[in-house]
Amino acid sequence: MPDFSAHHHPVLAVACPDCGKAPGVWCRRPSGHKASELHRSRRAEADRVFIEQHGPDASIEQVEGEWTVDPPWSRWYSPAA
Ligand SMILES: [Zn+2]
Repeated sequence: MPDFSAHHHPVLAVACPDCGKAPGVWCRRPSGHKASELHRSRRAEADRVFIEQHGPDASIEQVEGEWTVDPPWSRWYSPAA
């Protein structure tokens, strides 16, 4: 399951449908240079998977350098007593 808070950028949680880069790997231009922007199709895919995982009302934000999903999983997770 993609982890949107694990990478330098949340979109890196999914593979790129455009240039085929694996999760965690930044997009490349056809020339092989690092792209300045992640591909649009990858951002759309990340959006889709994020909503599937966290729901349409969730968002992700950077807090003190860490990506945090709001509402976080802990909202629904109750540790066994
Ligand atoms: Zn790409």
